[in-house]
Amino acid sequence: MNTAICEIPKLESKKDSNIHPHQNFVTRDKRNEDLGHQSGVVWLTGLSGAGKSTIASLVERMLFQQGYTISILDGDTLRTGLNNDLGFSKEDREENLRRTGEVASIFANTGHIVLASFISPHHKGRESVKSIVGDNFYLVHVHADIDDCISRDPKGLYKKAMFGGIENFTGIGQEYEKPEVTDLTINTSDSCVADSAMQLVSFIKSKFEL
Ligand code: ADP
Repeated sequence: MNTAICEIPKLESKKDSNIHPHQNFVTRDKRNEDLGHQSGVVWLTGLSGAGKSTIASLVERMLFQQGYTISILDGDTLRTGLNNDLGFSKEDREENLRRTGEVASIFANTGHIVLASFISPHHKGRESVKSIVGDNFYLVHVHADIDDCISRDPKGLYKKAMFGGIENFTGIGQEYEKPEVTDLTINTSDSCVADSAMQLVSFIKSKFEL
């Protein structure tokens, strides 16, 4: 009986492929000059219910009206589409942030100020996004006391988590690692929505001017 000799297929390394990212003629600098401000990523981290989405939405509206090119990347929105194959284990959260970092980076390179609103509970995940984005990455901790988050519970998630309906829910089943160093901390337990938003508006204006 003839035994066919099978060649073992060569495994291609994901990093060793024939991929050559395109160099755009319209550079980030040209876009920034044209738009009148620098671009980059403002990363809002904090517990669910701390106020990330509320602040991001108000700040986007205010700065857009003042002529800024500004966009929101929201955790729930990305999890509905691009990242809908990922759960909330530590590994999946890291992959969620890696992909988000890549998307945020594309937006930043095309002139946007990106308001990225993600619980992002772990140092490692936040550091990985920072290294993907590079220049003009700012970490903003939107802080609220856990008791305030639980009593606000805008999406009813704490209630569900406390009755065992959500595994790995940050603040209940999974720890939130408070950032040791931030570019800005907004304490929403101590300030109203308008004041919190204004703190971020002032910060962005100071950091993104040309
Ligand atoms: P997150 O995006 O962090 O999960 P949300 O923005 O969805 O939180 O919800 C925050 C809730 O807290 C909203 O109901 C909002 O009205 C309320 N809130 C109270 N004070 C503030 C504040 N200073 N900044 C932002 N939100 C606040």
